[in-house]
Amino acid sequence: MTTTAQVAQKEQTSASRGAVSMKSITKVYDNGHVAVTDIDLDVAAGEFVSLLGPSGCGKTTLLRMLAGFERPTEGDITLDGESIIDVPPERRPVNTVFQSYALFPHMTVAQNVGFGLRQRKVAKVEIGQRVSEALEMVQMTRFADRKPAMLSGGQQQRVALARALANRPDVLLLDEPMSALDRKLREEMQIELKLLQKDLGTTFIFVTHDQEEALSMSDRIVVMSEGHIAQVGEGQDIYAHPTNRFVADFIGKQTFFDVTGPFRDGRLPTTDGDFKVADDVEDMAGDLVAAIRPEAIWFAESDEDLRNADNSISGVAEGISFLGDLTQVVVTTDAGTDILVRGATRNFPPLTEGQRVSCTFAGADTRVFSK
Ligand code: ATP
Repeated sequence: MTTTAQVAQKEQTSASRGAVSMKSITKVYDNGHVAVTDIDLDVAAGEFVSLLGPSGCGKTTLLRMLAGFERPTEGDITLDGESIIDVPPERRPVNTVFQSYALFPHMTVAQNVGFGLRQRKVAKVEIGQRVSEALEMVQMTRFADRKPAMLSGGQQQRVALARALANRPDVLLLDEPMSALDRKLREEMQIELKLLQKDLGTTFIFVTHDQEEALSMSDRIVVMSEGHIAQVGEGQDIYAHPTNRFVADFIGKQTFFDVTGPFRDGRLPTTDGDFKVADDVEDMAGDLVAAIRPEAIWFAESDEDLRNADNSISGVAEGISFLGDLTQVVVTTDAGTDILVRGATRNFPPLTEGQRVSCTFAGADTRVFSK
């Protein structure tokens, strides 16, 4: 019979490498600026995690500490259980793909990809093998002899990725690597990158301020705000269950209504009427807001629809935008709130600007947050 200890040992030896753990990480720059505060984050081996947040929230700082370019002021970072705080960047099994591809213009694609390996004095034959393998992964084999200036932005990005992958890192850090690409190419690269990551089983930590990019690729998303973690979870969970106003506002769209009085008779008074809501507001302190997502709002087609609805609002349809598969409209309510309504174009009612409309939404979709 196998003992628990034997099973644990077996699991440990067969598990892939690249489990990252950040414990109580704080970074204060020399000028006194506190870039991140008390961050705790575990990333599993082989996981694809995105750090998502607005400019200046500390994403890059966190990535630079993982790479070894910055040292945390406080806290520890471990890789597969060993602290890497004192390990210099070039000795960490971690590689970074930067926003600026930083390719050497005088070297060919193949020479660029092999650069790190030559620096590390890897044997020539092995360099050749690893360069071909990495170029194949990013489908750039036929460009091996070109100089970077003869490549498109997307192709240069692939070379930068191949250069990092040729080192066979346990953890790959990606700092907004696709921000210079146009939308269509970026979407294609997102799919490719995700498939490549699954194939390789390498831990990917991806920095972005683009929520769609984070949602489309990541196993988990770490939403950051002002140097701390606002929420961590799978994309679907964060989208459906934001735990605070910042995340609710940052991921997807919301219309917020100011709450104007205490909860009574099962309803919460707002600037736009008394709403049934999904949250237990009695425990919530301070000023509150109610929030509804654009896709959770429906146009009422009859008085019966309105009677059956948990919550309803009337107003005037103003900005009607056709977005292809989706159509969205801003409804300015009688109280002066602009609500965003969005739905599949094929199900959307024909509306004209200035038309009076009534909208309904479920209490289960109406979230409440501290302001
Ligand atoms: P962006 O998306 O704009 O790159 P970010 O979330 O990656 O933003 P960071 O680059 O980590 O943010 O910066 C976090 C904060 O730390 C910012 O307020 C920034 O001005 C500050 N900061 C970054 N680097 C330094 C530095 N070397 N010295 C002082 N302050 C810095």
